[in-house]
Amino acid sequence: MKAYPSGKIVDLTLTLEDNMPAHKLFQAPIIVPHKRHEETASMGIGVEGDRMSFTTYVLNMLDHVGTHVDAYFHINPKGAPIDKMPLDLFFGKAVCLDLRHIPDLADVDVKDLAAAEEKAGVKIDGHIVLMCSGLTKKHYPNREAMISNWGLTAAATHWLADRKSKMHGVEGPSTDRPNWMEFPSHRVCRDRGLSHYEWLINLEELVGKGEFFFSGMPLRIGNGSGSPVRAFAIL
Ligand SMILES: [Zn+2]
Repeated sequence: MKAYPSGKIVDLTLTLEDNMPAHKLFQAPIIVPHKRHEETASMGIGVEGDRMSFTTYVLNMLDHVGTHVDAYFHINPKGAPIDKMPLDLFFGKAVCLDLRHIPDLADVDVKDLAAAEEKAGVKIDGHIVLMCSGLTKKHYPNREAMISNWGLTAAATHWLADRKSKMHGVEGPSTDRPNWMEFPSHRVCRDRGLSHYEWLINLEELVGKGEFFFSGMPLRIGNGSGSPVRAFAIL
């Protein structure tokens, strides 16, 4: 039998909730009960003496709400939609860079990533690179969480691509700063065939842990521009 990862599991996923914070360009989700136990108890399901009820929920949300992964198609009309992206993009060896000292709305440049890589003690080569900003602990679920994240520069995004990082991931709504519309990191992602996770949480638990296993599988949404994921790491 082949080896599989085992160890402490760290959940990196926001709880999907009604009206939770979303990217400033996106609608918040509407997540409400569809049928409640109280309603379905009278449907006559089950048998005399052992009746049954059920509950279901309506999820009315964009594919970029909560902890999610962007499909190439999201920002590239010729890019693969989420259901056509290879599954091996979404799990594998990973490292977490500690960038908590970078202030809100600042630029994260090559020198910051290089220093954090050095501190992490892992030479990035094909890794999924997670970047801890501390934004969730600082701001979530307040409105500031939607408008305070730092952003990767174009050069920093090229730096990740040059190290064959197959995916990267950040806390908060975007890899780009919310206070300008230039989206340098997203444009480099588009041009270099990269993509990323957004709204990851609990990344501070991965700081200083070296290399670990990460998984964040998307739903198979036909022609989807992205998907919510259940992201986790195994230390
Ligand atoms: Zn994105």
